[in-house]
Amino acid sequence: MIHIADASLFIIRKRIEGNIITVPSVLEELRDENSRTILELMNVRIEPPLQSFKKKVKTKAGITRDSEELSETDIDILAKALEYSQREETVLVTDDFAIQNTAIQLGIKVMPAGQRKIKDVLIWEKQCIGCKRRFPQGDECPVCGSQMKKRRKGTVKN
Ligand SMILES: [Zn+2]
Repeated sequence: MIHIADASLFIIRKRIEGNIITVPSVLEELRDENSRTILELMNVRIEPPLQSFKKKVKTKAGITRDSEELSETDIDILAKALEYSQREETVLVTDDFAIQNTAIQLGIKVMPAGQRKIKDVLIWEKQCIGCKRRFPQGDECPVCGSQMKKRRKGTVKN
């Protein structure tokens, strides 16, 4: 059994049996030392996603209208899960609703990392695709009128 995990698993520090794989961009999101130590203790394998699978995920996410909710890291992890799910038993471990939703559309099995008992809460913000200014919310940039995309701002202790 292969577990493809996004940041939620390492933030929650849940122990799971079997192989765990993540992508380099998830590692970059885990800025605190503790999460990185957990990752090493769990023997997590870091593998970059393949472009061909990223393309498939983006196409599917566009159809289900989750693309606005998905960050580049989310696409990477979905691409990795899709790749493995086509050749062996794979479960994608995530607490992110947009990732779960897209995964189901792609036929990937999903498992929540921690459900309600989370130690850290992911904070989101919107970033303008035009001028790159950041705002707490909104779909359209109040400065230049371009579309705004959701991105992770960071995590806070719950
Ligand atoms: Zn703007």
